[in-house]
This record gives sequence, C-alpha cells and structure tokens, in this order.
Amino acid sequence: MSALDGIVLDLDDTLLDTTTLLVPAADRRAAAALRSAGAREDDDAIVARFHACRAAGSPTAIQDVGAALGVDPAGCERALRAFLEFADSVPPLALTPAVAAAFDELAALAPLALLTQGHRPTQQAKIDRLAIASRFECVVIVDGLVADAKVGALERLLHERGWRAEQVVVCGDRPTSDIRAANRNGCRGVLVRREGSERAGERANSPSDEPWRTLVCVEELPALLQREGLAGVSRPTE
Ligand SMILES: [Mg+2]
Repeated sequence: MSALDGIVLDLDDTLLDTTTLLVPAADRRAAAALRSAGAREDDDAIVARFHACRAAGSPTAIQDVGAALGVDPAGCERALRAFLEFADSVPPLALTPAVAAAFDELAALAPLALLTQGHRPTQQAKIDRLAIASRFECVVIVDGLVADAKVGALERLLHERGWRAEQVVVCGDRPTSDIRAANRNGCRGVLVRREGSERAGERANSPSDEPWRTLVCVEELPALLQREGLAGVSRPTE
C-alpha cells in the first residue's frame, strides 16, 4: 500500500523546461508588444531587461520592464497577454526521457494530479502537445494569474479526491505559488530549483513559502520519496 495518497505536480519548469522551450519566443512577443505600446528600445535590450528583472526575483518582469520604459498599464497588460497567451502556436513538445522515467516511477507510488496555472487554452495546448493528461488521475488548470489561486485550487483538489493533506506531496518551481499552496493546505512542498530557470530568482515571502525539501529537478523526486520513507516500502514491524 502506498504511503502517499497523491502527488501533485506543476507543469511549467517542473515537468516541462518552459524556460528553454517556450520563454524565449514569449519574451520576443512581449518585447514587440511593449515596443508597439511606445517602448523605445530594441527587442534584445528589452529581453535583457526581462532576464535581469527575473534574476532579481520579480514575479512581474513584463509589467516592471514596461513601466520602467514608460509604457502605460494597458500596454503592459497587452505585453503580458502576448507573453502568456499562445494556444495556437505552442510548438510540438515532449517530456525528456529522464522526466518520462520519473513520471513512471511516481505513478507507481501514488495517484498523480497536475495543477497548473496560466492562460487556460495555452496550458491546455501544452498538455495536449505533451500527451500527458491520461497519466494523471486529475488535471486542474487555474485560469489567469491571480495570486494564491493555487491555494484554493489545491484545497478543492484534496477534498474532491479524498486525499489526506499530510499524505500528499506537491512539487513545483515557485515558492510563492506551488510551495505556498502546499503549506497552506498542510501538504509537503517540494521546490524544484534549476539554475537559470524563469523563476529561479523568486524568493520566499513568508514562512508558508518555505519548502519541505528542495531538488534541482523533478527527476530527483522518486528517490527523495524513497529516502523519506514515502514510497510505500513495507518496513519490518517490531
Ligand atoms: Mg511552474
């Protein structure tokens, strides 16, 4: 019998290397949108500003750069949408062999849920391109970028699945989103922190953003669960 009721996984920069595969084109679209809203720098300079802003830990790099370049809030909003909304142009995607192998190991340990947040059609298109929906017992897409929305979404997910919070591991790359949702619901939060990823500069803002454990990549999660005695390995009783 599994020691865990469920494992909840984030998509962007957890299962999928969004930073490498999707963010460069998204940054170009956002930079073009800022220029058309009045920003007077070229794309390379604007994208460099995005990178610097993220490295400093800002969760709102597009809007911050837009404001710094004198773009009005409506123009910044259009740039953010250009960054986030690309359901019709999501390229072919595939899990890496290592992530696919970890996926299989995790699925053998406990039921899996996907909990992702963003522009719903775009997130759905990524899931469709990866052809991973059937691997999950449930898939939850939180539409939009409302702060803390994953907290309530995870609460509903736990309730609907009948999963005990203390028997659930939540793995994601954002302290203020994935880990906060885990902690506020009483789950174990595992932070994936890969150097150079889009959110690698994001800091914990409160004690509820502090992870239970930190990994470099999701591929390390099965071994972590084994080490922590959460992999359902039967133990001799005294
Ligand atoms: Mg993520």
